[in-house]
Amino acid sequence: MKLIDTHTHIYLPEFDADRDEAVSRALDNGIVRLLLPNIDTQSVGPMLSAARRFPGVCIPMIGLHPTSVKEDYRDQLQSLETLWSENNFIAVGEIGIDLYWDKTFIKEQIYCLRRQILFALERNVPVVIHSRDSFPEVFAVLDEFKGKGLKGVMHAFTGTLEDARRAIGMGFMLGIGGIVTFKNSGLDKIVQELGPGNLIMETDSPYLAPVPHRGKRNESAYIRLINKKLAEILGTGEEEMARITFDNSIRLFNLEQ
Ligand SMILES: [Zn+2]
Repeated sequence: MKLIDTHTHIYLPEFDADRDEAVSRALDNGIVRLLLPNIDTQSVGPMLSAARRFPGVCIPMIGLHPTSVKEDYRDQLQSLETLWSENNFIAVGEIGIDLYWDKTFIKEQIYCLRRQILFALERNVPVVIHSRDSFPEVFAVLDEFKGKGLKGVMHAFTGTLEDARRAIGMGFMLGIGGIVTFKNSGLDKIVQELGPGNLIMETDSPYLAPVPHRGKRNESAYIRLINKKLAEILGTGEEEMARITFDNSIRLFNLEQ
């Protein structure tokens, strides 16, 4: 069985004590790729060293996370943009709008989202969208790019069935992780309605650990638990679910098989 964790922050300090072991546990469980979304100019160094330490396994993206959009957003965008000249990134992420933590920089968040979608379109790579309490705002920006061939994923998807259909209609996949294992998340019903054709799996580790590890540190090996849960919800075998979501991830991120 081959699986992909399409969203992990394994470069964060939470893994400093056992990063090599966490990668080994992932590989032992069939998780053959770990895709690394960036956060800001602080995280990019550790992220690139993880990518260098585990070549072909840990694969980096570049982007400015909405909760890191502050007064210095122009400098941040500029520094991240210049990294394209020396590195290959498979996606622009994670980017988006987060109105849960702080609404102070909403205008700047919208500006950065727009600007980074343009980066992605210029380089013909997908975007990884973080949306928290902000689906109307995110969709309003995405609507501006209709018909331009934009692709991406709604990471840690928590919207309604209608939001899901709208995202899929715009060429997006849904990133499913630990939340689907939580009681009363409602995500199981949405997944059941949609089927597996537009789903990819992610941990968002160290955050959002699935049951039975809820509340503890998450890690890429737990993709196995997400796969099991999705197979259960959709009534497929685990092998089949792994194959479908693996293919979806390869296609979206343009990865080698
Ligand atoms: Zn993330």
